[in-house]
Amino acid sequence: MNDFKTELGNETWTIRFRTKKECKGNWGLCDRATKTITIYNRLKGVDLLDTLIHEMRHAQHPIPYEAEEFINQTSTELAEGLDLAGFKCKQLFTKSKE
Ligand SMILES: [Zn+2]
Repeated sequence: MNDFKTELGNETWTIRFRTKKECKGNWGLCDRATKTITIYNRLKGVDLLDTLIHEMRHAQHPIPYEAEEFINQTSTELAEGLDLAGFKCKQLFTKSKE
């Protein structure tokens, strides 16, 4: 996927897709200081959707930024629900750049 900018919590954030090394071994990183979310660039399907939702929700407010356990569980539920609703994540992201 291509890097992009988006509004989160009324602030402009940069979403970028990078290697696992640049993600420090994580699937995603959220940095409030630089307003940057870094996503592992080989994620696909529900895992990619889950990670995007997860990090974007951290970015929206200082309270969810700190609430790792809550964000972790609820973001996975949202991603799986959206997948079941028919968004067909695997097809959506199959053609993305590696
Ligand atoms: Zn998190």
